[in-house]
Amino acid sequence: MKQATMQGRSGAWTRRVSDLVKANHILVRQGVLDGYGHVSARSPDHPDRFLLARSLAPASVQADDIVELDLDSRPVGREDRQLYLERYIHGEIYRRRPDVLAVVHSHSPTVIPFGIGPVPMRPVCHVCGFIGPGVPLFEIRDTVGDRSDLLIRDQALGRQLAIALDDKAVCLQRGHGAVVVAGSIPQAVARSVYLELNARLQIQAITLAGGDRGINYLSAGESQATIETQGDFDRAWAAWCEEESRARGEDR
Ligand SMILES: [Zn+2]
Repeated sequence: MKQATMQGRSGAWTRRVSDLVKANHILVRQGVLDGYGHVSARSPDHPDRFLLARSLAPASVQADDIVELDLDSRPVGREDRQLYLERYIHGEIYRRRPDVLAVVHSHSPTVIPFGIGPVPMRPVCHVCGFIGPGVPLFEIRDTVGDRSDLLIRDQALGRQLAIALDDKAVCLQRGHGAVVVAGSIPQAVARSVYLELNARLQIQAITLAGGDRGINYLSAGESQATIETQGDFDRAWAAWCEEESRARGEDR
């Protein structure tokens, strides 16, 4: 039985579900998500709930696939469909961070090397200022030892990840991926796309320089200033939405 239905929902709820569906598709087209990874949004009608697709490849997500969950990451209504194993990432971050309205968990490929080596990720250009002067790293081995499959399988692990994220926009997950949080769906999507871009550019800069020394990263003050001017990355979001609808229209 499908739990999500547009009937009886507020306009804000319907819009947020629609944006969440678009976010799934855009993040695949931008190379942040593939068959795995997920994006969620806080429910506009119930701040102690969040919206997340059932267990499905993000490119296939439609409005009927969106499930409403409580902060324990349990579905609010009856739900017989399979859910994402790592949904606890979202529930525990929404619980600890009232400022967060959207969360992306990805296996963003170019980001992963920064979670396993000695070079910290730092912002290389103005659209990446949200990265800030330091990106925390979640080391799952510290919680469960060396025999885990690296997945956030329960609430306790979700809580440890949320603690590692602290008040930042990004937390790397060693050997796995990253979480990105934001105050809106468009901002979470843009930050995820630009996190992948930053990783690529930083590796290029280090390669060009023959090492990490001498790279001129954004300062803490510059990073903060860019966050204040970027807002929701409205223009990028509009362009990606248009590209997505054009591509999907052509696919039909
Ligand atoms: Zn994962």
